[in-house]
Amino acid sequence: MMSNFYQTLENSFVTNLSGDALRLADGTVWRYQRLHERVAEIAGALVAEGLQPSDRLVVQVEKSAENLALYLACLKVGGVYVPLNTAYTDAEVDYFVQDAKPTLFVGQSQRSDVKTFTMDENGQGTLLECVAAHSDLPVSSAVTRQPDDLAAILYTSGTTGRSKGAMLSHANLASNALSLSTCWGWQKEDVLLHALPIFHVHGLFIASHCALLNAAPMIFLPKFDAAQVLELLPQATVLMGVPTFYTRLLQQAGLNHASVASIRVFICGSAPLTEQTFNAWEAATGQRILERYGMSETIINTSNPLAGERVAGTVGFALPAQEFRIADADGKPVQTGEIGTIEVRGPNVFRGYWQMPEKTAEEIRDDGFFITGDLGTTDEDGRLSIVGRAKDLVISGGYNVYPKEVEGIIDKIPGVSESAVIGVPHADFGEAVVVVIVPSAEPVDIETIHAYLAERLARFKQPKMAVNVEALPRNTMGKVQKNILREQYAGLLSQD
Ligand code: AMP
Repeated sequence: MMSNFYQTLENSFVTNLSGDALRLADGTVWRYQRLHERVAEIAGALVAEGLQPSDRLVVQVEKSAENLALYLACLKVGGVYVPLNTAYTDAEVDYFVQDAKPTLFVGQSQRSDVKTFTMDENGQGTLLECVAAHSDLPVSSAVTRQPDDLAAILYTSGTTGRSKGAMLSHANLASNALSLSTCWGWQKEDVLLHALPIFHVHGLFIASHCALLNAAPMIFLPKFDAAQVLELLPQATVLMGVPTFYTRLLQQAGLNHASVASIRVFICGSAPLTEQTFNAWEAATGQRILERYGMSETIINTSNPLAGERVAGTVGFALPAQEFRIADADGKPVQTGEIGTIEVRGPNVFRGYWQMPEKTAEEIRDDGFFITGDLGTTDEDGRLSIVGRAKDLVISGGYNVYPKEVEGIIDKIPGVSESAVIGVPHADFGEAVVVVIVPSAEPVDIETIHAYLAERLARFKQPKMAVNVEALPRNTMGKVQKNILREQYAGLLSQD
């Protein structure tokens, strides 16, 4: 059986070879014909350089059309694609190379421990020279793969301990991409505004696969720039972004109903979208953002509906053929409305962590449910809301404090632009609640916060201290790095 996911994508886009695939920022356009040919050529070079089916290809390069073609070429020849965040230092990359044991590495600079090719932000470098040298060897047919064969390993951003490599199979990618294409109403007339990085599940799989499966064009930008994205919105029908895209666009003077008239859906995920941003977006544009929930290990788990009601602060329902449950520590479902760990099951769930069988066994239960580590709750309709990460949970004096609940209320205090609630070591309580605030103008003091929270939140959930900062530390996907805050303020309330 032919289960190479690349073949599924190719079967779709060969129907539109004269159509645009990638519209680049410099005005260059790659038709599907060019993408198709380039993938075949790069595939030829990868094979000539020794990449065999199931071998790993580690890639740490800036986003470009050639980079996307390299990913597709790797799938085509049955290689396992291992993208790395471009922000990682050489020392960090050492770990990934030692762990993944790739046959080939494509990066910005030469490495001594693995056969390396280079690629710069324009896609130029020794890889393309090698492709040119092997131009007589294009690979015309995708290598046969079984559904469970690996297509990619995504190293999770991991805020503690060693970064884990989530192994995703061809069947994982295919099932999720086909579901999303249907659920989000994709058609070949769509134009995706693609401003996400392609070393992460969001930009590489979720966004690109929807467009490729529909032979639709992508406006393919190297990075997100709010002014540029606003200017290009009238040429697009879909924007996929992280919450920071939306908060930054909201600061643009030109954002209004007219500027988004061509967009049929704004999709958001990778980090929590606040109700304030959801509401501010609707007020500014007349459109309700469709929030969804996903992760490296499972691609997309749940989504708000395209046609039904999109509810702020919720991430919707499981995709078709997938399920989730809110469970206690033993995996037993809790009552509706109670908080528990979100566990998910379905054809999207990864094959385990690369070379970490014990970790895999800890996190995937015998009945197939994967313990996501996110805390959630459902309402009567079955909509899922994420309450936070289990490891961000604050336990103060034996009581559980869910940071998102506290942040949601503090964010409404006039003068607060955004907030992050963390637990810091405390002699009496074990952990004490502390809020780190980004004020919109003047610093916001703890008395103001207590006055606002007095009638709204139980005493044990209220912060003992407030710290005002200019900005919260965020990773490239817009997630607040609470581990950094916890480290920074660890000594705030200790006696010594
Ligand atoms: P990553 O593997 O880097 O994509 O990170 C996955 C994590 O991002 C999830 O486990 C969630 O904690 C978080 N996440 C993704 N989507 C959402 C969302 N819509 N709301 C809140 N958190 C989210």
